Amino acid sequence: MAETDDRPAFIADAMLGRLARALRMLGLDTFYRPDIDDNELKMTALREGRAILTRDHEVADTNLPVTVLLIESDHVEEQLLQTARAFRIAPGGRLFSRCLICNVEVEDVEKCEVRERVPEYVYETQERFSRCPSCGRVYWPATHVERARKWIAEVLGANALEDADGNS
Ligand SMILES: [Zn+2]
Repeated sequence: MAETDDRPAFIADAMLGRLARALRMLGLDTFYRPDIDDNELKMTALREGRAILTRDHEVADTNLPVTVLLIESDHVEEQLLQTARAFRIAPGGRLFSRCLICNVEVEDVEKCEVRERVPEYVYETQERFSRCPSCGRVYWPATHVERARKWIAEVLGANALEDADGNS
């Protein structure tokens, strides 16, 4: 699945919650449920064409025709780096295009619609907002992206995000 033109879709095992969030932050479709069992994990990967990210050798040893990456580190930074290298992820997508909690693509919303849902100073200082259609969580790209960009640049290298200026 990693060879297709599209960016890969993932499924992360229960131990990789932080990695799942980091991948979603990059806009990558990443299935994660903390209570999923090994069999369900593999079957979902097979059915939906997702690459499995796992810390578990037994999961990685599957005979099913799925792509598996055995994650070596306990640290999210190294996990993200390993994943990005293995799947040649160029983080050129729009950051925060996907809800970190639901893995659903967020939608742009009018500023006035989010008044009740964001801190006062954020409302005063930000112009662009997006919202998860599933959980209603509101994202304000300017602040979130700036922070995330810094972190990703540290993890993946300073040049990683040169093309990622999604501000159009
Ligand atoms: Zn959501």
